[in-house]
Amino acid sequence: MATYRELLTRTKAEIDEITSAEARALAQADEPPVFVDVRDRDEWDEGFVPGAVWIPRGNLESRIEGLLPDRDRELVLYCASGSRSAFAVKSLNELGYTRVSSMAGGFVDWKRNGFEVGTAATLSAAQRARYSRHLLIPEVGDEGQRKLLDARVLLIGAGGLGSPASLYLAAAGVGTLGIVDDDVVDDSNLQRQIVHSTERLGESKALSAKRTIEALNPDVTVVTYEERLSSENVERILGDGWDVIVDGADNFPTRYLVNDASVWHDIPVVHGSIYRFEGQATVFEPGEGPCYRCLFPTPPPPELAPSCAEGGVLGVLPGIVGSLQASEALKLILGIGDTLRGRLLLFDALATSFDEVSVRRDPNCPVCGEHPTITEYVDYVEFCAAPTSRGVSA
Ligand SMILES: [Zn+2]
Repeated sequence: MATYRELLTRTKAEIDEITSAEARALAQADEPPVFVDVRDRDEWDEGFVPGAVWIPRGNLESRIEGLLPDRDRELVLYCASGSRSAFAVKSLNELGYTRVSSMAGGFVDWKRNGFEVGTAATLSAAQRARYSRHLLIPEVGDEGQRKLLDARVLLIGAGGLGSPASLYLAAAGVGTLGIVDDDVVDDSNLQRQIVHSTERLGESKALSAKRTIEALNPDVTVVTYEERLSSENVERILGDGWDVIVDGADNFPTRYLVNDASVWHDIPVVHGSIYRFEGQATVFEPGEGPCYRCLFPTPPPPELAPSCAEGGVLGVLPGIVGSLQASEALKLILGIGDTLRGRLLLFDALATSFDEVSVRRDPNCPVCGEHPTITEYVDYVEFCAAPTSRGVSA
C-alpha cells in the first residue's frame, strides 16, 4: 500500500505540471487557458488568479463537463500548493480532458511571485446565492457579477420595452438603473407593460417601476426621472454618468435626442422598436458602428406619419424585443460575445422568424460623420411613428 507522499509523487510523474511563472505567461497570451481553482470556498474568498473558474475539488468531476464541455480546451488547475490540483489533473485526464496541467506551488507560489490577485470580497453570501447561476458561467463568474453590480444603465421609458428590460437587468444585478418616464400607469398599458400592475393605475410609471424593481432585487438602486426627455434636461440626465442606454422610446423626438446625446457623451445605446407583430433591435456604439442618424438622418415629415391610434402591438412582442435589449446591455457591460452593433435584427412574431440586415456607419452622417452638421440638440415636433420606418409606439 502506498503512502500519501508516494501516491503524490507517482501522480505528479504522470501528469503535466507548469510553474506559476509559466502559468502567468499563458494567462497573458492571446488565447489564454481557463484557470480552474479547485480550492475550498474560504480559500477562494481570500483571492484567486484573475479570471479563474471556481470548482471545488470535491465537485470537480461532477461539474466540469457542465461548465467546460470542450475536452480539448487548455486548462490550468491550481490549489494552494499544487497537491490537490495534481490529483485533480489526473482525474480530468481520466475523464478525457487532453490539455490539462497543474500549477506547481499553487496559489501560494503565484502570490509569492507578486502576480495579480482577483478578489471576491465584495460579493456577500447572499449575493453568491442570488447570482449563483451567473457565477457558474465562466464568461460571467465572480468578476463579471461584480462588473454588473458596479454598472449603471439608463432606461428611456418604463413602457413595453422598458418593462422586461428593466426587470431582467435588475434580476441580473445591474447595480444602478435610471428610468426616464413622465407618464402615469394607464389601464391600456397593462396588456404589455409588465413592470406595472393594476393597483398602480394613475401612479407615475418611473416610481411604479422603481417599486417593482426594488421588491425584486434589493441590490439595485433605481434613480427616477419623472420627466420627458428634452433638449432642456438631456445633458443633466446623461451627466449623471451611464455605461449603457436602453432606448425604449415610443416617439421620434426622443429617439433623436437619445442618439445625439449618446454620440456626444460616447455611451452605447441598445435600440429597440415594435409595431403590431414586428420588432427590431440593434446596438449603436459611438465611434465603433453606425448611429441612429446614419440609418435615418432626419425624421420623416409629420404629415407622412399615421395617427397614434393606429399603433397597435401584440402584447408579448415588447417582451421579446425588450429582453433582447437586456441581453445586449448585459453583454456590453461584461464585454463578451458579439453585440448587434452594425446589425439590425428584425423579428416577425407572426412568422416566428428573425432576419438581419447589416447597417453601416455613414461618413456623411449629420451627427457622427466626418463633418457633422448637427452640433446641438434639435427638438422635433412630436408625431406618431410611420410603420414604413418601423418606428413605433412602445
Ligand atoms: Zn451616425
